[in-house]
Amino acid sequence: MIWQSGRLVAVGVMASVLTCACSATPPAETKTPLTLDSPEMAATLSGIQGTPIKQHMTVLADDGLEGRGPGTAGYEGALRYLETTATAYGLAPAGEAGTFRQRVPLRNSVVVESASAMTVRSSAGATRLTYGADYLLSADPLREDVAIDDAPVVFVGYGVSAPALGYDDYASGADVTGKVVAFLSGAPARLPSNERAYYSSGAVKEAEALRRGAIGTISFTSPDDPRFRWDVSVATSKQGGYAWVDAQGKPNRGDAALRGAASLNHSGVQALFAGAPTTPADVFAAAAKSTPQAFALATRVSLATRSTHKDVESANLVARLEGSDPALKNEHVVYVAHVDHFGRGVAMNGDEIYNGAHDNASGVAIVLEVARAWAALPVKPRRSALFVFVTAEERGLLGSDYFARHPTVPASGIVADLTLDMPFMFHPLLDIVPYGAQHSTLSVPVTRAAQHLGIGIGTDPIPEQALFIRSDHFSFVRQGVPSLFIKSGFQTGDPAKDGAAINAAYRRDVYHKPNDDMSQPFDFEAGAAHARLNFLTGWQVADEAVRPSWNPGDFFGTLFGQAQAAAAR
Ligand SMILES: [Zn+2]
Repeated sequence: MIWQSGRLVAVGVMASVLTCACSATPPAETKTPLTLDSPEMAATLSGIQGTPIKQHMTVLADDGLEGRGPGTAGYEGALRYLETTATAYGLAPAGEAGTFRQRVPLRNSVVVESASAMTVRSSAGATRLTYGADYLLSADPLREDVAIDDAPVVFVGYGVSAPALGYDDYASGADVTGKVVAFLSGAPARLPSNERAYYSSGAVKEAEALRRGAIGTISFTSPDDPRFRWDVSVATSKQGGYAWVDAQGKPNRGDAALRGAASLNHSGVQALFAGAPTTPADVFAAAAKSTPQAFALATRVSLATRSTHKDVESANLVARLEGSDPALKNEHVVYVAHVDHFGRGVAMNGDEIYNGAHDNASGVAIVLEVARAWAALPVKPRRSALFVFVTAEERGLLGSDYFARHPTVPASGIVADLTLDMPFMFHPLLDIVPYGAQHSTLSVPVTRAAQHLGIGIGTDPIPEQALFIRSDHFSFVRQGVPSLFIKSGFQTGDPAKDGAAINAAYRRDVYHKPNDDMSQPFDFEAGAAHARLNFLTGWQVADEAVRPSWNPGDFFGTLFGQAQAAAAR
């Protein structure tokens, strides 16, 4: 399972020779800082290749690593491969106690379906819904048994309260105290892309509902929402929910005020809306027009949730390359990619291994290639680079959240995050969508890098996918760190290839299913282009005199920027 070809070893030896040459007193001319246009930079960029990316992906997505589920032998095998590769590339361990590892203790909570129930009572009588067919429950991370008994239900549109952005489903003053709130997944299309993504977060909606006194939540999805895939939701829910656990044994998720959380299939929505003043079709139509909604439903709901809890040991892997400036080397540009995927799960088409080749062996492979190039630089930029390979992203960004809150380097010195996750590599990289660039001065280095490489920059073509909150960069945003999450745009350079259609088909047919494996038609040169772009962006951030900052008055800078200011004090 540990891949050891001649090429990898040769590259590793080369990298360590270069490292040694730099740390011995070098001739003065090699200390000249590199520039974007220097021949050394051109050589570094052309040295970034698709072949190593393909090799890393082939190892990580192999059936032998069993889909890299946290706490499994397959995940451990992936970490060992990363340790071997990082060592060969000349990276230094920067985890705990001089190792590459940062321990991440997790708790897995699973619903006991046979001891759980959901009943909807209308004037026509009580209907007991069928688990998995009509509804799913979220396991409670804190308690074995929680229940809601015959509570009134208030439908609150998207469940979004964002008065500063001119949208508030709760504006009519709906009283939800002691009640269950029901809301649509997603957020109004009238909000800007990344703010819309933020307000579409289930955690944000739940916190809003609990702040207003609600005791339970029910979410459901419009039938034309491309994110609705009930079979995948059922399969994923069998694996339960996860939280990370702090030193006192307290999970980072769960609120004692929440006594039940359900999500509904379309049949469940019909039951919930029995006798309602408005039909589901009408509320979907109003939501599509970004019209705030809130009204009491005619039904009452009972929920009983039994959960089992199990401790799972997992780990992040942290590797470092030191910067050249005596002071600024204590600051870090952080590259992040999640190692985990869903492991073994519910079989689809006879396959129970969720290989996660694109999600996210691709991102890990690209970050490794960035690290290899960085290690081989004849002169390092002023700041240091940190390469963090995280666990449990698929369980709610847990490994990255744990690292961002408990970094193994000083928190105040984390100047930027660049996350690679499923960058989209099914056609040449001709344009990018740099999620996060519009919020901070990181727009400058990413624009410059794209121009240098002849790559275009577009705007978010799929805001309904809420991508800005859906990967590990968002864990850093929450800690006030300016961050970028760069995805491919839809240009393919081939009139016969429709980039939008390829993207939609992947999200519908492959994403989070066992067929996300190496049989897909990956364009590894596009992977190399992603590596060059992320390398060049991070290199500029590492070499600039001034660290990145949020734009004045920015939504995310205002919401979270003080977290980093506090860390700096
Ligand atoms: Zn995923």
